[in-house]
Amino acid sequence: MSDKQPIYIMPENTERTIGRDAQRNNILAAKLVAEAIKTTLGPKGMDKMLVDSLGDITVTNDGVTILEKMDIEHPAAKMMVEIAKTQESEVGDGTTTAVMLAGKLLENAEKLLDLKIHPTVITKGYKLASEKAKEILNRESIEITLDNEELLINIVKTAMTGKGAESEKEKFSKIIVTAISQIEENNNVNLNNIKIIKNKSSGIEDTELIRGIIIDKERVSIDMPQKIENARIALISEPLEVKNPSQEAKISISTPSQLQDFINREEQMLKQIVEKIKLSGANVIFCQKGIDDIVQYYLAKENIYATRRVPKSDMESLSSATGARIISNLNELSPSELGRAKIVEEVKHGDEAMTYVRGCENPKTLTILIHGGSEHVLDEIERAFKDGLGDVATVIKDRTIVAGAGAIEMELSKQLKEFSQTLSGREQLAVNEFANSLEFIPSTLAENAGLDPIDVLTELKQKHDAGEKYAGINIFTNKVEDVVEKGILEPSRIKKQAISSATEVAIMILRIDDVLASKTSPRSSPSMGRGMPDMSGMD
Ligand code: ADP
Ligand code: MG
Repeated sequence: MSDKQPIYIMPENTERTIGRDAQRNNILAAKLVAEAIKTTLGPKGMDKMLVDSLGDITVTNDGVTILEKMDIEHPAAKMMVEIAKTQESEVGDGTTTAVMLAGKLLENAEKLLDLKIHPTVITKGYKLASEKAKEILNRESIEITLDNEELLINIVKTAMTGKGAESEKEKFSKIIVTAISQIEENNNVNLNNIKIIKNKSSGIEDTELIRGIIIDKERVSIDMPQKIENARIALISEPLEVKNPSQEAKISISTPSQLQDFINREEQMLKQIVEKIKLSGANVIFCQKGIDDIVQYYLAKENIYATRRVPKSDMESLSSATGARIISNLNELSPSELGRAKIVEEVKHGDEAMTYVRGCENPKTLTILIHGGSEHVLDEIERAFKDGLGDVATVIKDRTIVAGAGAIEMELSKQLKEFSQTLSGREQLAVNEFANSLEFIPSTLAENAGLDPIDVLTELKQKHDAGEKYAGINIFTNKVEDVVEKGILEPSRIKKQAISSATEVAIMILRIDDVLASKTSPRSSPSMGRGMPDMSGMD
């Protein structure tokens, strides 16, 4: 009687998917993520327009940005998004590649699952292949010296092709290489030294590199000097105002003269503020809070340049750039607390004015001022700059590069297939599928450029078999050729990181054979959430 009663070990509303169903579900979700960004890969990749629930628009070609904005719900798909984020934070570029690789690894694993090969055999084979791939990658990397500016420029150009920055990539790569060479120290680059500021005014061609800092604030009064040379800079975190009497304070005024007294006294206090500043010798003030009108008036009379409501992060950058200490009490202000810069000046762009601080005491402070006609353009150019900066910083650390345009992927694939011959049965199949997955990159580069991926892959294979290691699909000429000669180069680390994280996530997803989702957690069926409706038809 009672032995027919089912036993519940979990809440009744738990949704459970087991075994092959769980695997298929997860693999499909991961594949969908890879498919979703595939069309953005490479120089001829297309952009995506993403509209969030508030109606804000992002137009981008950048893998990680797309995935972050896509509002992905499926748990396995979310794991894919994580690798894009890791790739972005570790090397700053190669996000699309990493995710596509992971998607393909899983798709190909499914073929093996269909052949009844156990997931643990596949994951073992993938792990082996990934280790071997990194070994081959090290061997096939090209060592460079850093005095070769043209080479660095080519690396940035490769990173920027196909982005909104394409038309100005010549100029932008120079800016990036110059900027990085200025802040480089013992083969290390701290990208925090480069600030990126965006200005909606002229076209992107006016984008410039400034040796110093730009603060997006204008001087508080047009009676102040517009430009100060040999600036002595005070950074003040307190308002330059008379503090409001606290709530309990009671001021009783009964005659007009008492009122006048009161006003005079207040003015006196405000004047004293200016007096203290003047005594310190400061001729430029950055104030984190407000500045009273009367203080503004007297500061202008003393030919002192002042800006107000400067964000805390800017105050901190100003402090490290100019050597000034941020003061919270005016009584502490003394000449030794001031910072220095050659020039502080207000510069107008369109209707907006900004404060430029040039020739700072610390020469390692740089700003890239991006100009552009709209927010969307500015954002996309900023992402392109970040990719380029990330690439050069990586190369400076490692000093090894690989041939881009799918060449390194083809070479890895070829050598991995040779390696697989040395293995026994089932693992051999897994290593082989790993090798096949790498070909997804060149084939997609070709496909996105409107070429026939099969023709291109065949030609690439022939050339690599004939020993042409640097044969890639150059999308500028639409030819399979030596891409190192053509300067299509990428930092080795981008590929290494992409292979590592793609393998890790693929293995992790493959090991799952039981998904227990409580009903309140997001759906676990493979669709992509609100941003991208039904993509299951894509293939
Ligand atoms: P990711 O997010 O992976 O960096 P991208 O859209 O930036 O994706 O594309 C990078 C890929 O484009 C790399 O494989 C790179 O080698 C390739 N690439 C760049 N320039 C060229 C070119 N001129 N011809 C062919 N491939 C190129
Ligand atoms: Mg890129």
